[in-house]
Amino acid sequence: MRILVIHDLAGRNDQVQAILDRMRDQLVDTIVVLGNLLAPDIDLRARPAAFSAVLEQLTAPGRPVYLIPGERDYPLEHLLQAVRAHRGKTSLVLVHRTAAPFGCSDVIAGFGGLLTKGAVSDGEHLAFAEWEVRAAFEHIANFNPLFQLARRRIFLFANPPRGNHIDREGEHHVGLESLNWLLRVHQPDVVFTGGPASGRGIEVIEGTLVVNPGSLAEGSYAIVDLDPLHAELKHLPEEQEEQRGPFRSIVVAIDGSTEAWHALELAAEMARQHAARLTLVHAFEPIRQPLGEPNLSAAIEERIAQGEQLLEQAAVLVADLLPERELLEGPADEAIIRVARSKQADLIVMGARGQGALRSLMGSISSRVLRSAPCPVLIASHAAVEYKEKEQFSQVESVRT
Ligand code: ATP
Ligand code: MG
Repeated sequence: MRILVIHDLAGRNDQVQAILDRMRDQLVDTIVVLGNLLAPDIDLRARPAAFSAVLEQLTAPGRPVYLIPGERDYPLEHLLQAVRAHRGKTSLVLVHRTAAPFGCSDVIAGFGGLLTKGAVSDGEHLAFAEWEVRAAFEHIANFNPLFQLARRRIFLFANPPRGNHIDREGEHHVGLESLNWLLRVHQPDVVFTGGPASGRGIEVIEGTLVVNPGSLAEGSYAIVDLDPLHAELKHLPEEQEEQRGPFRSIVVAIDGSTEAWHALELAAEMARQHAARLTLVHAFEPIRQPLGEPNLSAAIEERIAQGEQLLEQAAVLVADLLPERELLEGPADEAIIRVARSKQADLIVMGARGQGALRSLMGSISSRVLRSAPCPVLIASHAAVEYKEKEQFSQVESVRT
């Protein structure tokens, strides 16, 4: 049995794809994912779709996938829904607080999220009190015959146990003694753990092989053989990085106009060529009239619904790129620049004109973004669209004549 172990995907779907593409060469038959699936700054509303997209991607090769949530995979309910939606397709098993069969005779058990002395999830982290891990494993050990009879035990944690290296973050050790205790009591054969990227490594703790694969967002992963037990840390080839062009994060501004659709087409082409992350942004007009409640909330909700619909329409057109969506309140130029900053965009793509009636060369939003953008701006002009259409038309004409 050969296992691919990954942690901290962090919304880098290009890296996920790169590792899945290499799986055939590495003869991997099972995938273990230790959480932190999404980009750190992703909006709450975009999370259900983003969870589904990455699970779809992970299960596409048809290998069994075992998963625990990381501390940034909140809210757990959204992840659970996405996992449930996959039921019956490929084998995708969430082993958070539970154990599952692994191959013919082994068992895999896990506990995800951040473990703390007493605090719980705060809407920024998925967190559990340490005693809950002990309780969960005690329950599994006492009541799960599979766990008792299994030939080998594999444990998954989102945080490392205390070690010499694998839990090191700079000068500090972030490992938890309570997990060392679990290893002493239950003697698993191997532990796969999330943890600081700087602690990437393999170490024997309490007689058990513990593997921290590092961050897939940074290109790190681990390949583990069970027969005989052997773990190896790997890195995606550097050419992967070199193949990526200078545009790694592209933001495209959508307002429903013809030119914005043309901008989307251009942005998608560039994102494919440069293996860039694509973010779709739409800003809805702020409501300036004093409407009073409940009319004000109703009007805002209507604008949000329209904006979501527009972004959905755009996302479907470039679904292969797994785009992120940002819906913000205007003014549109400020919103576009805010998103460009938060996504560390290398390029903004937008139309010269939008929905406005006046026909000057550039609209007010594109002019303002161009003036204060934190990165280069690519403006798709209507003239180019007309030119392209004319070209196609004249080609058709010349075929006819
Ligand atoms: P004006 O709005 O000044 O009357 P216009 O509508 O023709 O003129 P802009 O609004 O500047 O021109 O639109 C240019 C581009 O800016 C659009 O193609 C689109 O890419 C982007 N854009 C405009 N409004 C928005 C918005 N609300 N949200 C996201 N992007 C927008
Ligand atoms: Mg406009």
